[in-house]
Amino acid sequence: MLVTSALPYANGHIHIGHLVEYIQTDIWVRFQRLRGHEVRFFCADDTHGTATMIRARQEGREPEALLAEMSEAHQRDFADFGIVFDHYGSTHSPSNQRLVNEIWKTLRDAGHVVEREVRQLYDVEAGCFLADRFVKGTCPRCAAADQYGDHCDKCGAVYTPDELSDVVSTLSGTTPEVRSAPHFFVTLEAYRDFLEAWTQEPGRLQPEIANWLAGAFLSEPLRDWDVSRPAPYFGFEIPDAPGHYFYVWVDAPVGYMSATWDWCEQSGEEFARWWSDPSCEIHHFIGKDIAYFHTLFWPAMLKTSGYTLPRAIHVHGFLTVNGEKMSKSKGTFVLARTYLEHLDPDVLRYYYASKLGGGVSDIDLNLEEFAAKVNADLVGKVVNLASRTARFLKGGHLTDAYPDDGGLFEQAARRADEIAEAYEACDTNRVTRIAMALADRANEYVETRAPWSLRKQEGKQEEVRAVCSVALNLFRQITLYLEPILPRLAAQARALLAVEAEAAWRDAQTPLTGNALADFEHLLQRVDPERVQAVVATSVEAER
Ligand SMILES: [Zn+2]
Repeated sequence: MLVTSALPYANGHIHIGHLVEYIQTDIWVRFQRLRGHEVRFFCADDTHGTATMIRARQEGREPEALLAEMSEAHQRDFADFGIVFDHYGSTHSPSNQRLVNEIWKTLRDAGHVVEREVRQLYDVEAGCFLADRFVKGTCPRCAAADQYGDHCDKCGAVYTPDELSDVVSTLSGTTPEVRSAPHFFVTLEAYRDFLEAWTQEPGRLQPEIANWLAGAFLSEPLRDWDVSRPAPYFGFEIPDAPGHYFYVWVDAPVGYMSATWDWCEQSGEEFARWWSDPSCEIHHFIGKDIAYFHTLFWPAMLKTSGYTLPRAIHVHGFLTVNGEKMSKSKGTFVLARTYLEHLDPDVLRYYYASKLGGGVSDIDLNLEEFAAKVNADLVGKVVNLASRTARFLKGGHLTDAYPDDGGLFEQAARRADEIAEAYEACDTNRVTRIAMALADRANEYVETRAPWSLRKQEGKQEEVRAVCSVALNLFRQITLYLEPILPRLAAQARALLAVEAEAAWRDAQTPLTGNALADFEHLLQRVDPERVQAVVATSVEAER
């Protein structure tokens, strides 16, 4: 399997909204590996476009210097949240340029490229054409001032920048003029039959996305896709059209392939095995805002160039915080780095997992619930199982035969397929609910058998050992089920029980017997609500 997360844009730092996707993908990848699949997980920085060019210009340095700095920051943030890629590339790389050129040639050869004049706003002082977001003006519908070039925040109107009045370039503050330049377009309508069949194939896309494409795009002729930008533009120059550059959305998804390519070069792997062999399943994880790039343009590019099409595209919704859009002034626009300065990354992995149900609706990070839930579930239910029993077995062994536990282990073992199905469907909400129900029953058992009282009674030492052996086995089984979400906790559980072999999904079927117990180490800290408030306060401060 080849799995990707969408490429973060090089112009900004990773924030907790981004992390929903990277955590979701990392969980899915870890689950597939636990099931014994060979999986490679790739990502890269999305580097091209006007925004990078402008920022580098403002900072008085080469775009490459900016890219190197941001790539390092992104990779550090991901690693600290336990998100592990096989390779993290860049769309500004020789391998990406070579692949983009190759795919472009196939689009040309297939006769799917046309050239047309496009009228666009041009900033004379900055010397460049203006993307919609570098233009502000007065809304043509409601007359609200200071609205962006493509939509009005006040009334929701959608328009083109030349419909705005009092237009100003946000780059120079001057009034831009309308200029005409040739652009290249891919005639997407030529792919209609293919796209209709491909997007509607059961299992390819979530039903919400398949229906949205059928209703919003495929119900009328598909618009040609504008794939070029005139100079100056930070990107790859089109080989057969000097002075014209590939629009950033052409080379961005190719970054999935070039990351694979660079990894193959480093590891001696064969690129064709991953992108040209239909037995390799390709899975993309993306947010709903970029679904049409990945479900219309990208498959058309792959189809024409003869590479393997994605097996599935998994789409998620956006993150809200306390029920609202992340807000800089309210301190809920939290950078990954700010979070890490105050809180444990694992608990955010768990919280997001508990919220993600496999659909495309938005998920909410409620800061109050966050602390309460993590403390109740992870500390109160899961870790508790070990912390209340491991000390009574200190320096000892689990029983040589698994004791009678009234069927608890066996019943939990029988939930393995159900949990696996939930993981498969990205329904980690269901995974965590099942795991917590199992933890509740295990805790009831410990509560009823009360090893802390038993140990004070004469001749009950074996019974204490039996109760603790059961509790620790149930703990290990639950942490195994949660391993894709909480890999560190699962590893700690294995270390505590001296399990040397690498974890596998089937381990949930067999209790451990006779294992020597390592010293109990502190597994997870309670989330202090004051630390959560500190994250918000720091984020507000950073904004001032
Ligand atoms: Zn308006």
